[in-house]
Amino acid sequence: MDPLRALSGRTLLTAIFGDPVEHSLSPAMHNAAYAALGMERAYAAFRVTPERLRDAIRAIPALGLLGVNLTVPHKERALRMVADLSNEASLLGAINCVVNRRGVLHGDNTDARGLALDLHEAGVAPDGKVAVIVGAGGAAASAVLAVIRLGARRVVVCNRTAARANRLARRFAQHLGSRGGGRPTQSIDARGLDTLTSPSTMGAAAIVINATPMGLKMGGFADLAYDATAPDCVFYDLIYAREPTPFLAPAAALNRRTLDGAGMLINQGVLAFELFNGAKPPHGVMRRALMAALGRQG
Ligand code: NAP
Repeated sequence: MDPLRALSGRTLLTAIFGDPVEHSLSPAMHNAAYAALGMERAYAAFRVTPERLRDAIRAIPALGLLGVNLTVPHKERALRMVADLSNEASLLGAINCVVNRRGVLHGDNTDARGLALDLHEAGVAPDGKVAVIVGAGGAAASAVLAVIRLGARRVVVCNRTAARANRLARRFAQHLGSRGGGRPTQSIDARGLDTLTSPSTMGAAAIVINATPMGLKMGGFADLAYDATAPDCVFYDLIYAREPTPFLAPAAALNRRTLDGAGMLINQGVLAFELFNGAKPPHGVMRRALMAALGRQG
């Protein structure tokens, strides 16, 4: 059923705000779930410029939107525009969901949980091992939290701008220090991109995660010692595309396991759907809708 044909005076809306937003695959996933569940709800995409973000967020209760996903470039600025935050959103310093709780706006972030779920479902377990994260922005913060949750012993953050990697590492190091309890000992180190060519660091990695846009539209990926990695090292690119990405292609050529960010996108969307609608969406329906939109089998 085409969900847009079901729009009526009773239809309740959810949405995504971004700039640009036309490329977003979230409407395809969420509307497929509404159609499958027969819910009189729809998910729209709004291009919201950074200057109008505050106005757009203020309009959520006025329009009765149930919840809104945020994408580039709004995730960090919106933090200060909601009434309260989940602990996870505070730690990550970014929100990708605004939930309308009877007119009070609650900020949450489902990216780290979405990635951890995807890794778990794929049977990737970096527990007690080394995880290398490339990038130090919001997505990298989610990747750091995900591998910590999955029990990584050591996390190495490699970024072009060293100061940003340092800030990210310090934020999580403090958090770990205050955790205590029976969790495995963990350290977080900040490094430059040159560490990706270090045979000793790359040889120790159980997983390497790209959390930058490198390879998305602009050329290739940074130099990386692919052949120094262990045969069971997993390469995960947060970017999702029809073709293997420039980060993943050399790893695949060496028969390393590769995963792209489609699974994370589905899982963060499943979690957002639950927050907005108070109902579990059909995971398989959302996956098929995304894969169809990407022109992939799935
Ligand atoms: P961001 O905050 O803008 O962070 C960008 C990061 O990439 C920074 O560490 C930046 O380094 C680095 N970077 C950017 N251009 C670079 C270049 N040409 N060379 C080297 N490093 C470069 O972005 P973000 O929100 O974290 O998102 C990062 C990526 O994750 C995006 O491609 C996004 O689409 C993807 N993502 C995917 C999902 C999913 O569900 N699959 C979810 C969230 C994000 P500097 O600090 O040096 O600038």
